[in-house]
Amino acid sequence: MLSVQEAEKIILRLVRPLDPEKDTETIELETADGRILAQEIASNLDFPYWDNSAMDGYAVDYEDVKNCSVETPITLEIVEEIPAGYQPKLTLQRGQAARIFTGGMLPQGADTIVMQENTQKQNNSVKILAAPKYQEFVRHKGSFYQAGTPMLPSGIALSASDIAVLATAQCIKIPVYRRPRIAILSTGDELVAPDTPLQPGQIVDSNQYALASFVRDNGGIPLRFGIIKDQPDILKAQIAQAISQADIVLSTGGVSVGDYDYIDQILEELGGNIHIRSVAVKPGKPLTVATFSNNCLYFGIPGNPVSALVSCWRFIQSAIKKLSGLKENFAPTFIEATTQQELRAGGKRETYLWGKLSVVNGKYEFSLAGGSHSSGNLINLSQTNSLAVVPIGTKSIPKASKVMVMQINCKSNYS
Ligand code: AMP
Ligand code: MG
Repeated sequence: MLSVQEAEKIILRLVRPLDPEKDTETIELETADGRILAQEIASNLDFPYWDNSAMDGYAVDYEDVKNCSVETPITLEIVEEIPAGYQPKLTLQRGQAARIFTGGMLPQGADTIVMQENTQKQNNSVKILAAPKYQEFVRHKGSFYQAGTPMLPSGIALSASDIAVLATAQCIKIPVYRRPRIAILSTGDELVAPDTPLQPGQIVDSNQYALASFVRDNGGIPLRFGIIKDQPDILKAQIAQAISQADIVLSTGGVSVGDYDYIDQILEELGGNIHIRSVAVKPGKPLTVATFSNNCLYFGIPGNPVSALVSCWRFIQSAIKKLSGLKENFAPTFIEATTQQELRAGGKRETYLWGKLSVVNGKYEFSLAGGSHSSGNLINLSQTNSLAVVPIGTKSIPKASKVMVMQINCKSNYS
């Protein structure tokens, strides 16, 4: 059986990222949070736009004030007042200063700002009580960014700081990758929608909702195919449709070795190339990964609700990230923490146990969720934020020892 790490590599290798030409759209800056840039952005503006003051104070010629001190102050004539947003009209002559405020444009003839705290105003003149450094508190035009040079690279997810940069650059139409379309199918004769009264033996299709939420958290558009019966002809027709419409298809159920598990056979009939059938992981062992000639990537995920989500977090999240056009950081985030309970596993498969990661006295601690760690127990998975990893060959990680913990249930930083 494939190890988790081997499976992860194979999956990432199979992903064909969206095309930076064909798979893009132009959106308004206001709606760009979390979207992924499809082109490098440059601006035709310098930043700062012009020399300006970083302080409230006085714009001066350094030569006039370089020897000032409390004992030997210099008095300069104030010839102009420059609030932010005002264009200076005068050129400073020697012996002159301009009153200036933070963000105010530096007047011609000035090269340095003296902060207000080191001055004393007297009617139309100002006493300079301390020598500034040359060019002190001047933010020079183009010192943060020079027009025409690369400002933001393609393949990054836009966060608040990037949005600020785009706004500053007056870039209001943003070229981004389209969101990936991700089809979700729940397979199983036993499944009913949450608004249907349960008959004996039936199970509510929670996966449809969980996976749609997961897809949205990762910036994708869920295409919901609903519940599909375990009938090969119906399943095949629905799967064929999903493959033709989506970048990624996620189906849950039907990938084990039971009599009603038809997915692998159908994928082969539809011309799919199956790369993975199972992974040495718990929960989530039966995992089918297939590709189709139209680039669609198919994940046949186990039906058990915890297995389904663990598969999504461990394998599918990074595939969505790569497909979406992101350039790096596909892998889940792992953090070393101290476990508050003993962690037990069978030793044959890499085992993921759910719980809560928190910071206590500046250190990461992991607390195992109470109750059963059955792959069907979705109840205690709720409100967890991490999975502790017990490697193959390890049957117990004692209380108070270190364990690697994978973050889950968090929105990707690009959604
Ligand atoms: P399967 O992988 O089809 O053998 O299903 C394994 C278990 O997961 C069975 O107990 C199913 O009833 C349950 N299950 C399958 N699909 C879903 C679903 N969409 N929502 C909740 N539970 C499911
Ligand atoms: Mg089933």
